[in-house]
Amino acid sequence: MMELTGTCPECETKLAVSDLTVGETFTCPECVLTLRINAVEDGVLVLEMVEKQLRDWGQ
Ligand SMILES: [Zn+2]
Repeated sequence: MMELTGTCPECETKLAVSDLTVGETFTCPECVLTLRINAVEDGVLVLEMVEKQLRDWGQ
């Protein structure tokens, strides 16, 4: 699987992830924020901060 790169919107750390797709979330190793992959443009991640929330998404 292709490795994707991006920049953390909070701390501007360069990130590289693999095995992740649009809509998934991961944690920035630097600032420990949860980031969601909004899109992938030319192999570059478009990231958005997600408020840390362990509650269920209401149904
Ligand atoms: Zn960060």
